[in-house]
Amino acid sequence: MPGIVTIVDHPLVRHKLSLMRRRDTSTSKFRGLLREVSLLLGYEATRDLAIEEIEIETPLEHARVPVLAGKKLCLVSILRAGNGILDGMLDLVPAARVGHIGIYREPRTLQAVEYYLKLPDDLSERDVILLDPMLATGNSAVAAISRLIELKARSIKFVCLVAAPEGIANLHRVFPGVAIVTAAIDRVLNDHGYILPGLGDAGDRLFGTK
Ligand code: URA
Repeated sequence: MPGIVTIVDHPLVRHKLSLMRRRDTSTSKFRGLLREVSLLLGYEATRDLAIEEIEIETPLEHARVPVLAGKKLCLVSILRAGNGILDGMLDLVPAARVGHIGIYREPRTLQAVEYYLKLPDDLSERDVILLDPMLATGNSAVAAISRLIELKARSIKFVCLVAAPEGIANLHRVFPGVAIVTAAIDRVLNDHGYILPGLGDAGDRLFGTK
């Protein structure tokens, strides 16, 4: 059975992503747009959070109202570009715990190499939303998910801005149970592992490093 892919194709998301794709969009504009889109992706990615009912007093009467059941979410950013999504997601769920996984792509082989790891130590009690704007080869996502599974994360969902068909296939070949939430599925990867049409290097565009 193929894994679940949710495309958030809301007009606001589509519009903002198109602005982000433009070569002439500035770093500060790009960063602001990613934060805004992340709120909308996060809205979708958190749709199945558990709810419980509590008793409260409104100014007029006693009521039973729904609230999130426990604070059991952990947002994990794949450094460095994942931090661009993290900001918007934290606006939405400020109580979430945050973890970071540093992974770089070895330029020649495109293989993922982990260089940093800092996660909450109670991962087995937490639902993880893993963040990386670009799902390209899928190698970084697979490496990060392998690590999260090794550390017994309760559940894992992957949120990105743009996915390549190759990245989705790779991720779901290895981990069919990890749902993907994305704003778009682009055409193809080029020989250097960049997504076409894509938006370039998300980290460089976010941080102005090129
Ligand atoms: N990482 C990026 O930042 N952009 C791509 O197109 C592929 C991987």
